[in-house]
Amino acid sequence: MIEVPGYLTQAVLADNGLSHEELICLEELSELQKELTKQLRNKGNMRDLVEEMADVYICLKTIQTGMYISDREINEAIVEKADRYLRRQKAGDTK
Ligand SMILES: [Mg+2]
Repeated sequence: MIEVPGYLTQAVLADNGLSHEELICLEELSELQKELTKQLRNKGNMRDLVEEMADVYICLKTIQTGMYISDREINEAIVEKADRYLRRQKAGDTK
């Protein structure tokens, strides 16, 4: 389980505000996208990929906190998506 500490997200939001962190999140998602592209081209390294994944986990949790979205809401959405995937898998429709 990934744990992003609440003291970090609260400090980031207090320092920078939600709108700024939404922008940062877009940047971090882009950085992860670039790192994954490098991996696919066999030009990346695992350390850089882990760093970008950590950045994205942190910024997602920061936005979640700033928008008062509960873990329960997100977990429910994940379960719905998992159920849908399993239904599609059973129907042979996962590609
Ligand atoms: Mg980054």
